[in-house]
Amino acid sequence: MSGTVKSRVHATRGKEAIADQGSVLKFDKNNDFQHELKRRVDEFFETTGLRQRDCWQMYLKSGILLGGMGLLYVLLVFYTATWWVAVPLALALGFVMALIGFNIQHDAGHQAYSDYGWVNKLMSMTIDLIGGSSYVWHWRHAVFHHTFVNITDHDTDVDLGFLGRLTPHQKHYAFHRWQHLYLWPLYGLMAIKWQLVNDFWDVGRCKIAERRIPFPRGWDLVIFLGGKALFLTLAFVIPMLFHTWWVVLLYYGLAALAMGVTLSIVFQLAHAVEEAEFPMPAADTGRMENSWAVHQVQTTVNFARNNPVVSWLLGGLNFQIEHHLLPRICHVNYPILAPVVEQTCRDFGVVYHEHRSLLAGLRSHYRWLRRMGTVEGYA
Ligand SMILES: [Zn+2]
Repeated sequence: MSGTVKSRVHATRGKEAIADQGSVLKFDKNNDFQHELKRRVDEFFETTGLRQRDCWQMYLKSGILLGGMGLLYVLLVFYTATWWVAVPLALALGFVMALIGFNIQHDAGHQAYSDYGWVNKLMSMTIDLIGGSSYVWHWRHAVFHHTFVNITDHDTDVDLGFLGRLTPHQKHYAFHRWQHLYLWPLYGLMAIKWQLVNDFWDVGRCKIAERRIPFPRGWDLVIFLGGKALFLTLAFVIPMLFHTWWVVLLYYGLAALAMGVTLSIVFQLAHAVEEAEFPMPAADTGRMENSWAVHQVQTTVNFARNNPVVSWLLGGLNFQIEHHLLPRICHVNYPILAPVVEQTCRDFGVVYHEHRSLLAGLRSHYRWLRRMGTVEGYA
């Protein structure tokens, strides 16, 4: 995969993604690792007879999570009169909403849910249902993040603005020395910011961080506005018909907090940890040292691979190496596919990083925040 990145090419896969403002970023052209991996993975699916997409486990999981969200919402809004029942219900609702993000919309947004485009489109809109935007997500995640993982000023996921320093190439402020403490509560506010502010701000200014995106048109605009209207109606308008406004705001805040903490922590454990690298293009040529596929492995860390509960809940986001290399394969296949990926990495001398548990990943993220907060570059 050459990884040459050209303006205004709207695509979902790394190799075809965009660059803006005339900048060109190229990955190394040696694609032997990726070709061999693809060959082995194709062979794996042929021999096992498993399906890459349209897996029954995925449809079952979607039913459980969407049904669970509906049930929790109905119980919370229409059938709960006491705070000690409402509080756990609101927290559980926020948690399940995050799981819908990890499991359903994430796969669908990568066209990994189904072979049918309309099924992917429909299921990708579950992010609009939980308050996000499938349009903004496509640009932020599938294009900027997946193409340019951990490349400062290109990957919008490692850009927290002045609030935090996640890479050694970002500007250091004195107050970052406390970021390993103050960023955790801010992670909790992420869902509120995302639902009520960021998507409108990004679409309005046609930019995510400093990366340009086109203004949504046609159906994209209808889905963006319709999705936000639906979410605001479910989150505020309907509950306020039955409860006082401050009670509604309180429980919305609790659900959003649970959702924000869950989403942020899982996102950060894959890339903002000690073992991940943060390479930059050569200043004179704009060329990255490695090919796109090797770059994905270098910048990504798995965690808790052997924990089936974590794997089920997180939609395979604990198998981020597999996800970044094979984003169009449904996540229910990652656990059985991981040995193929790991062996191919080993055969090509590409280091495959993983944390044994969720807690080990969390500790590593904490240490990385502390290190980036106190050191101007790599120690
Ligand atoms: Zn992804």
